[in-house]
Amino acid sequence: MPKAEEGGCLAFVVQKHKARALHYDFRLEIRGVMPSWSIPKGPTLDPSVRRLAMPTGPHDLEYRKFEGVIGSGYGAGVVMVWDAGTYNPELEVARGIREEVNGRGLADRTAAEEMEKGNLKFRLYGRKLTGSFALVRTGMMGTKESWLLIKHKDGSCVEGYDANSYDLSAASNLTMSEIAEKGTGEKRPTLD
Ligand code: MN
Repeated sequence: MPKAEEGGCLAFVVQKHKARALHYDFRLEIRGVMPSWSIPKGPTLDPSVRRLAMPTGPHDLEYRKFEGVIGSGYGAGVVMVWDAGTYNPELEVARGIREEVNGRGLADRTAAEEMEKGNLKFRLYGRKLTGSFALVRTGMMGTKESWLLIKHKDGSCVEGYDANSYDLSAASNLTMSEIAEKGTGEKRPTLD
């Protein structure tokens, strides 16, 4: 498989969302939509930490560009494009050895299959998040699936990394307060 030189084949975004409770919506492009996970504490580059990630269903691809204020209804609050970029899925070819899957069609198919199995490994090419991660389905919390976002050990790890320490949009360089001050935009998508 050819090595990606400037990133992955598929889109990802992390939207910081201050609704009733602050959380981070982690979205990966798979099959033309963006399956999403709500991560209360946000993603981390610390490989010793596992972050709870609750699935929230697929969102349209165009939502990944939304930054602004959702004025009313479910999810009302401030949304920041906290991180954005591309990704490729990875497959474990031998114990602890992962190989990146390149090529849009194959990457998309692999990501869909691995997500279905509940163990999706991938390499992110973002502004804040880079390197290898896994989303792993661990069980049920009541009637909902619970997953964990895990950082694999590699050159991009940062011990003690706290997403809340980086309150700056990857799209606009604005903070959450500055986005809030700008007010409601024209678009009002429903984001959970
Ligand atoms: Mn949300």
